[in-house]
Amino acid sequence: MSDVPNREPAARLPYPAGLPRTAHDKPVGLRRIALAFGATSRGLAGAFRNEAAFRQELAVAVAVIPLGLWLGRTGMERALLVAPLLNILIVELLNSAVEAAVDRIGSERHELSGLAKDLGSAAVFVSFVLAGTVWLLVLLGR
Ligand SMILES: [Zn+2]
Repeated sequence: MSDVPNREPAARLPYPAGLPRTAHDKPVGLRRIALAFGATSRGLAGAFRNEAAFRQELAVAVAVIPLGLWLGRTGMERALLVAPLLNILIVELLNSAVEAAVDRIGSERHELSGLAKDLGSAAVFVSFVLAGTVWLLVLLGR
C-alpha cells in the first residue's frame, strides 16, 4: 500500500460552500434531509441534461411503466413489471456517476478508465436483459 499516493488534504480540495468538511459537522435531522434532497435534485437534473441515454431510458420508463401497471393482474405482477424499469434508471445514474468520476480524473486515454466505463455500460445492458427476462417470465408464464 506504500505505493498508493497520499490524498490531497481536504482543505485544498474544491468544496461546495455551506457543506460540512469533517464528520464532526455533518448535518443531521431535517438539515441533512434538505441537503440530500438538493443533491438528489442536482443529480437527476445533471443526468437529464448531460446523458442522452438517461433521457431515452426515462422516456421508455414513462411509456412502459403504465403498460406494466395495466398488464399486471396482481400487485406482485405489477411490481415485477415496474421494478426493472426503475432499476434501469438506477443503474444508468450509477453508470453516469462512474463516467463523471472518470472524466474528472483526466481526459487522457487509460486502459482502466476505459474498463471502468465499459463495466458501467455492461451494467446498463444487463439491467435491460433483466427487464426483458422478467417481462417475458411474467407475461408468458401465466
Ligand atoms: Zn453516459
